[in-house]
Amino acid sequence: MTDIVKELEKKDPQEQEFHQAVAHLLSWVRPVLDNRPGLARQAIVERLIEPDRILIFRVPWMDDSGQVQVNRGFRVEMNGVLGPYKGGLRFHPSASLGTFKLLAFEQVFKNALTTLPIGGGRGGSDFEPKGKSDDEVMRFCQSFMAELARHIGPDIDVPGGGMGVGVREIGYLFGAYRKQTGKHAAVLTGRGLGWGGSAVRLQSTGYGIGYFAAEVLATEGRSLEGMTCLVSGSGNVAQHTAEKILELGGKVLAMSDSTGHIFDEEGIDAAKLAFIKRLKNLKRGRIHEYVDKYSEATFMEVNRGLDHNPLWDHPADCAFPCAAENEINAKDAANLIRNGVQLVCEGADMPCTPEAVDIFLDSDVRYAPCTAANGGGVAVSALEMAQNRMLLNWTAEEVDGRLRAVMKNIHRQCVETADEFGQAGNYLVGANIAGFTRVVNAMQDQGLI
Ligand code: NDP
Repeated sequence: MTDIVKELEKKDPQEQEFHQAVAHLLSWVRPVLDNRPGLARQAIVERLIEPDRILIFRVPWMDDSGQVQVNRGFRVEMNGVLGPYKGGLRFHPSASLGTFKLLAFEQVFKNALTTLPIGGGRGGSDFEPKGKSDDEVMRFCQSFMAELARHIGPDIDVPGGGMGVGVREIGYLFGAYRKQTGKHAAVLTGRGLGWGGSAVRLQSTGYGIGYFAAEVLATEGRSLEGMTCLVSGSGNVAQHTAEKILELGGKVLAMSDSTGHIFDEEGIDAAKLAFIKRLKNLKRGRIHEYVDKYSEATFMEVNRGLDHNPLWDHPADCAFPCAAENEINAKDAANLIRNGVQLVCEGADMPCTPEAVDIFLDSDVRYAPCTAANGGGVAVSALEMAQNRMLLNWTAEEVDGRLRAVMKNIHRQCVETADEFGQAGNYLVGANIAGFTRVVNAMQDQGLI
């Protein structure tokens, strides 16, 4: 298997993050590959790491001063064996092909774990929506869709929202698609509630994370009731994770943004969380403004010179990293364990570095990887696709019930698979092997394509 990764490194030396993800997955699914030698003859891994197709395109747009700007658009259609490609769009200046290949690769297995009929893909652009006017964002989205429209469709590829791509962006993208094709088709999820969006889609990733955490604790007869929790971020995922933690009886002590974190020993209750939502969603404010309103809390500014993140220094029962990639390093992991953390449940995509993950797996901490824990977002996106295709809108209760069932099912697969492979309680092994096996079985069933 190291040969496969070496070959990949030789072919695309600049995509280190993708190589890393492939190497990790292969290390966790090794027992399946060893048990099923036929997979090597069929070059299953080599086929899995080569995307079905990659689209890269020019996105020219005019800024408010009349200057033409040029960005790059991407869509990586990684593996469509289980259904139409599904996975969010990300608009962020750091985005590159390597990032999207990594995200699309992870998405394949995450989607497989939901057991819904969706393949895996991701895409977006190196466009930075922050600081742009609505008109600029609209012109960018229209130009982006001018190319993407030819490659998506209800049975082909159904992108959704993601980092930097909210209802505003999906609205402009969908409008452009409709104008170009004349079709009100189920081609994008994350729509506004008045025009095909699903109830609970906005909340789904965070709620799903709360449900998953509750399932993990339930295996030991425990619950979130009374548990103290650190939540990083204050965006979509963090807000709704915190909301579900509160609903399930937990106490949220901290939240953050890219400028620093707030710590509130008395707990961020529902009213305080509503303040954070208004601050971040409506006023686009900074998290330190919380302290101006709630003087019992403290704010600590980010210090990039530190070798660890002080947010994870606070003693707490549970940690929910919901902000960004690699936000818990080995030192943070050690600090969390020293301070008695019992559960680390990943809300963001790959928020723990590989070294941090190894530290959690070597400890008594329950570690819930993002592949399993944050699958609620894509699950409700798939439910939105289903509703759009049926021209129906389910109620919030109906969607939430289905979301909860999906999260329970993901949890059950992780537990059963980890048990089957002699690694009881290891959710990383359970999630990776269960997702991988479902994809691989379908690839075998569908022949050499
Ligand atoms: P948002 O953009 O809504 O929020 C991100 C939050 O994290 C913001 O509060 C942001 O701060 C903060 N943040 C960003 N970078 C850093 C950093 N380096 N250090 C500290 N804080 C930081 O994104 P989402 O909540 O939607 O997504 C968060 C993560 O969850 C991402 O990894 C995303 O890929 C993943 N995810 C999201 C899903 C969804 O449905 N939204 C689904 C599955 C995964 P600031 O306000 O200062 O920018």
